[in-house]
Amino acid sequence: MKCRCFDNHTHSYFSADSRMSITDAVKVAYQKGLRGIVLTDHLDYDAPEGVTEFTFEVPAQQEAIDREVEFLGVNSADGPYGDFQLLKGVEIGLQEISMPKIRKVLSDNKFDTVIASLHLIDGHDPYFGDYYRPYDYRQAYGHYLEEFARLIRVMPDFDILGHYDYIARYPDYKETTIYYSEFSDALDSILCFLARNGKTMEINTKTYQLFRGRRPELDIQVLRRFRELGGEALSFGSDAHDIMRIGDRLDWCREMALAAGIKYEVYYKERKPCFIEL
Ligand SMILES: [Zn+2]
Repeated sequence: MKCRCFDNHTHSYFSADSRMSITDAVKVAYQKGLRGIVLTDHLDYDAPEGVTEFTFEVPAQQEAIDREVEFLGVNSADGPYGDFQLLKGVEIGLQEISMPKIRKVLSDNKFDTVIASLHLIDGHDPYFGDYYRPYDYRQAYGHYLEEFARLIRVMPDFDILGHYDYIARYPDYKETTIYYSEFSDALDSILCFLARNGKTMEINTKTYQLFRGRRPELDIQVLRRFRELGGEALSFGSDAHDIMRIGDRLDWCREMALAAGIKYEVYYKERKPCFIEL
């Protein structure tokens, strides 16, 4: 069965860790039945020493998208891709030190969708493991969530909070899942802020892949709590860096959202929410 969801989180060759062409991304997404995709390439300023800087020239990415829209004839109901949409996004990495650059790039450019993520914390890229060393899992996940809750209040100019459980992807702990019951204060602080300010969180299916022998799970209580606090719609994202993962498990996201009592998925066009009934 084809999935009629919107993939709000994908990476093209403008991201330092992807080589996916925009044409391929669109063709595969369309074949899979998706309603559209947003290219949310990585902008993570001020990388710690020795870590690749994940940045790109926003105007170049947006011009490439415009060329593709014209070349393929997407975003036009009577074109060959029907109502399929290819949108302009960014996944911006929050860090206190980067705030002036973040504010500037967001005011200098027009995006459809802005995802706020936390990829670098306390001068570490958790992917490499150093972040976790002084901590047990409660401290490591708890501190990450608290820092995220703080930074979204410093920089509230975003639409979607990216993978709140990113920090569960890379440690060695046997505790692979962020359970609402264990981190309720920090999660409430995040979810409340999102619900009150008309923003959303995403279900990011890349987190739930098998990686280095571990597979984090999504605790549905997090989604239920978002609903309880007034959240009405969720964003779904594959976090695809290659065509194989475009739209990956978005039908499962839909089921999880429905099971949590959420009735809509959302995507953003020119930073305005568009709701799709689930
Ligand atoms: Zn990310």
